[in-house]
Amino acid sequence: MSFLKKLFSSSPNAPQSHFYSFTVKCNRCGEIIEGRINLSNDLSLDDDGSSYFIRKTLMGNGKCFQRVEVEMKFDASKRLIEKQAQGGTFVE
Ligand SMILES: [Zn+2]
Repeated sequence: MSFLKKLFSSSPNAPQSHFYSFTVKCNRCGEIIEGRINLSNDLSLDDDGSSYFIRKTLMGNGKCFQRVEVEMKFDASKRLIEKQAQGGTFVE
């Protein structure tokens, strides 16, 4: 995690809340895959106009080519309200 440490220490005033980090475990090989969402850039406005959603496909570094499709929903304040994963499981 030295990369993240460096990133945050170089800009101490940048609010970390602009990023949402999560971890999923591949259902096939059990690999732990980390993902990160930029709440300022990556989210799309939902049809109802008052919430946001994102779809992301993750792949591990191992030899398994299982894709983990992640779908998340955020409210107007960009707080997570719903999440689901296909091909993997969220790790808290
Ligand atoms: Zn896998």
